Amino acid sequence: MSRARVLIMNSALGPLDYRVPHGMEVEPGSLVVAPLGPRQLLGVVWEPERMKSDAEVGDNRLRNLMGVLPVPPLTDAMRRLIEWTSDYYLAAPASVARMALPSTSALEGARTVTEYRATGNMPDRLTPQRERALERIADRQGLIRELATIADVSDGVIRGLVKVGAIEAVEVDIDSPFPLPDPDHAVPVLSAEQKAAADALVAGVERHDFQPTLLDGVTGSGKTEVYFEAIAAAIRAGRQTLVLLPEIALTEPFLQRFTARFGCEPVAWHSGLRQSQRRRAWRAIATGQALVTVGARSALFLPYSNLGLIVVDEAHETSFKQEEGVHYHARDVAVMRGKFEGVPVILATATPAIETRQQVEIGNYAELKLPGRYGAAEMPAIEAIDLLRDPPERGRWIAPKLVNAVDETLARGEQALLFLNRRGYAPLTLCRACGHRFQCPNCTAWMVEHRLVRRLSCHHCGHMMPTPHACPECKAEDSLVACGPGVERIADEAAALWPEAKTAIVTSDTIWSPAKAAEFVGRMEAGDIDIVIGTQLVTKGYHFPNLTLVGVIDADLGLGGGDLRAAERTFQQIMQVAGRAGRGEKPGHVYIQTHDPTAPVMAALVSGDAEAFTAAETDARREAGAPPFGRYAAIVVSSEDQSAAHEIAQLVGRSAPRLDGMEVYGPAPAPLAMLRGRHRYRLLVHARRALDVQDVIRDWLGALDWPSKVRVIVDIDPYSF
Ligand code: ADP
Ligand code: ZN
Repeated sequence: MSRARVLIMNSALGPLDYRVPHGMEVEPGSLVVAPLGPRQLLGVVWEPERMKSDAEVGDNRLRNLMGVLPVPPLTDAMRRLIEWTSDYYLAAPASVARMALPSTSALEGARTVTEYRATGNMPDRLTPQRERALERIADRQGLIRELATIADVSDGVIRGLVKVGAIEAVEVDIDSPFPLPDPDHAVPVLSAEQKAAADALVAGVERHDFQPTLLDGVTGSGKTEVYFEAIAAAIRAGRQTLVLLPEIALTEPFLQRFTARFGCEPVAWHSGLRQSQRRRAWRAIATGQALVTVGARSALFLPYSNLGLIVVDEAHETSFKQEEGVHYHARDVAVMRGKFEGVPVILATATPAIETRQQVEIGNYAELKLPGRYGAAEMPAIEAIDLLRDPPERGRWIAPKLVNAVDETLARGEQALLFLNRRGYAPLTLCRACGHRFQCPNCTAWMVEHRLVRRLSCHHCGHMMPTPHACPECKAEDSLVACGPGVERIADEAAALWPEAKTAIVTSDTIWSPAKAAEFVGRMEAGDIDIVIGTQLVTKGYHFPNLTLVGVIDADLGLGGGDLRAAERTFQQIMQVAGRAGRGEKPGHVYIQTHDPTAPVMAALVSGDAEAFTAAETDARREAGAPPFGRYAAIVVSSEDQSAAHEIAQLVGRSAPRLDGMEVYGPAPAPLAMLRGRHRYRLLVHARRALDVQDVIRDWLGALDWPSKVRVIVDIDPYSF
């Protein structure tokens, strides 16, 4: 009789054993449907010796597997990746595997999916609700449920529209192959510097073995062009490439450049895909048909059958660190995937993380440098504006020097970018009469005013309320004042200063889809925007030759708080945004407004001496035993019931093992003491590099019990301190 060990998705249980009925063929990695209680769940077959089961069941009590899905089994490399991620980040293997798998229906053998779209026929008598729904759907297409979500109505409303002929069904082929990128479509002429780097990367792809390489080139040096040559080599070898970008917003410029180089779009993988697109992409990736995929961090867990190359672009970006569900760092997992697959991994960035530099230092990663910008473009000059000496007028945020620079830029017909990493109008609203401050009911956070949509919103949980006219506390009317600036407020100031100029706000509120990003790029290129006011969303990826001035409104913004990476992150962010200036023939200029121009990070930005800054930061980290020289892990205990969370946090603290080379701090209220209605306490574990922190924490927490209303989450190598 044959049994199979199966890791069940959607279940907190460990792997379970099943009987393989006569005539069914399974192997490690097979995706199967397995019964659990009354349910039928998706599972992955695993080698029993590689995945221990706590529930040993005798042969006679085994239940039969119900079916095998008609998709290729997960490869050994993929399963090793799941095992490693689960071990390293202390996450349930099923939670990790789930990131790799779409829903069961998506895995079934169907070749087509029925979607719906507007017919263009307007029945004469429509209820206002149906009419609004139709307007929102316009030229969109999708499942009934997807259209209902777009239109913000119930499924029934969409079905009603189908009945009256306003919406029709269309069969969508989800089995058709993706176009194949042509490596010779538009081959660039590389500079000598670029060619040397590209040759080294191409040789790595041809060797087809594991090798992480830091591609360290200043902004505008042509890193993308250079790693495109490595992708071309992978395409020629018939192997797949995964390109990871830190956020969806960067997909659009990437797609355009890729298409220009290879003649067709790569396969995009992100949360905005419709189910039919998701199904088609997943299968084409699993069968090896899709040669190049670009995606945000979740693409890391796609089931490539024939991977040849991984590229992590903007590799320093902190958004690669996932802070929900499985807490993992996509850059680090990408390197591990490269190791298990036996393929090269390229980490491209102008401002490498200290952790990455250190890997180069100790010889684990190779390094390729592109020290100068491509062509005639020069690096922009960076100048600090001392806000104490040269302050803006009262109630304004743009200092006179920066105002002048914008004046001159506009007079030359060039574009300017004002950078402030804060969405909305103002980060804090208070009542002048009684001092009442608007706080989120679910989080330890102020409600942020978004004036364009007349709402206050919590940036942590999404809670929203209409901006009130009167103070809810003292009932005073028109007494509310906005404190501090967000991008909307800077946009108001810009409109007042330069009434003739065309401005655009670029944040996740305005650019929430690839289509919106494309529209923004189009308007910039057409010269339809003079001044961009944006958050970190505009700091990377974009290439606008006519953008010559960058003003950083508040360079000190990221330096507060106890984050050990605060200075490094500020340096990276400002270098990135500065990198948007002067990318074409016209020289760029950057002003950074700061209260402390002598702070080491500001001095380094102005002098352009990245190496000295990195060296000083690295020394400080070594001194403190901070990463990459020592390790941190955070244990966050949370519950809606504050005393329960507090009690368990105390228990975790009391049970901490006493070990040489490890200290445990706390419990203390977490930096966000309340989040989404849960009270949070945190313990911070600081350990010597050589200590197996995961093992220690596994044993430590494994011996404890807590009620189900309390959640205990471990964040290995945490980012938010
Ligand atoms: P990075 O990613 O390093 O910031 P990019 O790859 O975006 O740099 O290159 C900056 C600009 O220079 C882009 O518009 C790119 O197309 C152009 N460029 C870089 N190298 C070449 C080349 N060899 N031939 C033509 N254009 C190039
Ligand atoms: Zn909130």
